[in-house]
Amino acid sequence: SLTEKLTGALRSLRGTGALTEANMADALKEVRAALLSADVHFTVARDFIARVQAACVGQAVLKSVSPGQQVVKIINDELVKLLGEGTTELAAKRPLKVLMVGLHGSGKTTSTAKLGKLLKKKGARPFVVGCDIYRPAAIDQLEILAKQEELGFYSDRVTKDVPALGTTGLATALAQNADVILFDTAGRLQIDTDLIEEVKKLKAAVTPDEIILVADGALGQEAVNVAKAFHDALGLTGLILTKLDGDTRGGAALSIKSVTGVPIKFIGVGEKTADFEPFYPERLASRILGMGDVVSLVERAQENIDQAEAEKMAEKLRKADFNLEDFLAQMQQVKKMGSMQSIMGMMPGMSGVQLPGDAEKQMKRTEAIIQSMTIQERRKPSLLNGNRRMRIANGAGVKVLEVNQLIKQFEQMQKLMKMMKGGNQQKMMRQMEQ
Ligand code: GDP
Ligand code: MG
Repeated sequence: SLTEKLTGALRSLRGTGALTEANMADALKEVRAALLSADVHFTVARDFIARVQAACVGQAVLKSVSPGQQVVKIINDELVKLLGEGTTELAAKRPLKVLMVGLHGSGKTTSTAKLGKLLKKKGARPFVVGCDIYRPAAIDQLEILAKQEELGFYSDRVTKDVPALGTTGLATALAQNADVILFDTAGRLQIDTDLIEEVKKLKAAVTPDEIILVADGALGQEAVNVAKAFHDALGLTGLILTKLDGDTRGGAALSIKSVTGVPIKFIGVGEKTADFEPFYPERLASRILGMGDVVSLVERAQENIDQAEAEKMAEKLRKADFNLEDFLAQMQQVKKMGSMQSIMGMMPGMSGVQLPGDAEKQMKRTEAIIQSMTIQERRKPSLLNGNRRMRIANGAGVKVLEVNQLIKQFEQMQKLMKMMKGGNQQKMMRQMEQ
């Protein structure tokens, strides 16, 4: 009706409209597609979106952010909240007994050693017990890793009695003064009653404080059934999500978390024992949504820079199509927006990165260096040979060394952007830590 049209027009003029099912529809469709392509179980995706939608309707639209962007941001926050619910750390109790369960090939044995290594680094005296008696190679695998990481180890290659093996392993560990005892168990290709029965008996024998499901991060729609079966039978206390170093978006995490409510505690990001991290919900949420934190950037920027500029910048970051000219423009925006650190905090995967204290001073020098370059050089840094670098250093009143450093830094950043574009945030974080 005309009244509606008028009201609508007035609303958009004032920029104070509310979120409605209509203006949210496109964004929700996109988010739903993102969740499904991240392998989130379809019922989980549906319920999650319905919940968020209900919470969104009626909320005032923020100034200079489109309803769509606002919805993605709200969904992201909701996702972080849901993924991060519960205790994401292991119980502090000592001695601590941890049962590692999961399907065959999910990464139980590897994660057992990884967890042992991590706890040892924190000052614990971990001990691993190999309870996978069906494949001698599995016991060897654990023993080799235990030796490598200097963890206590026990297994028995002869017995067929898993609960007895567990009990003896526990006694051996305690006799050796271990304070964290990790039980690596057998898996099956699929969930089956034999497997569950055996783990139940082992549980009764060693009375673990933590029962951790180790799940392949690339598990698809079946993640829900796997998690439910283990949780119903054993009462899980935590989850380790493995193989997040690949292309997987980790939707299994959301499926499992939604269905069981069990907190995610660690993630595996590679085959080596060091490739293991505590769980950060923000990182996983942006990985699952695949939309980075672009909206936060836009939102943060809204009062100081125009939205189109912020979107252009975010888009360039996403596409890894970023030259020194953009770098300069961005720095000048950043000065208006607040500290570099807070901007880094909004970029996917960069929230943990600390900038040195003199970052602002450094920024001024960087600015001077880029300003001493020709536009052509800024757009194509590969042009910067020795002569040009010398000229730039003179122009900016800095040493050539600083020019070289800046270019190197920029190249590293470009590399990071490329990785980010590929969605490979784990690899990126490792790169940054070096
Ligand atoms: P289990 O059968 O559950 O004990 O699984 P394993 O620990 O033997 O792991 C199965 C395979 O997955 C091995 O080749 C591991 O190296 C590999 N793996 C385990 N965790 C990870 C991970 O986080 N990333 C990658 N890329 N590979 C992993
Ligand atoms: Mg194993």
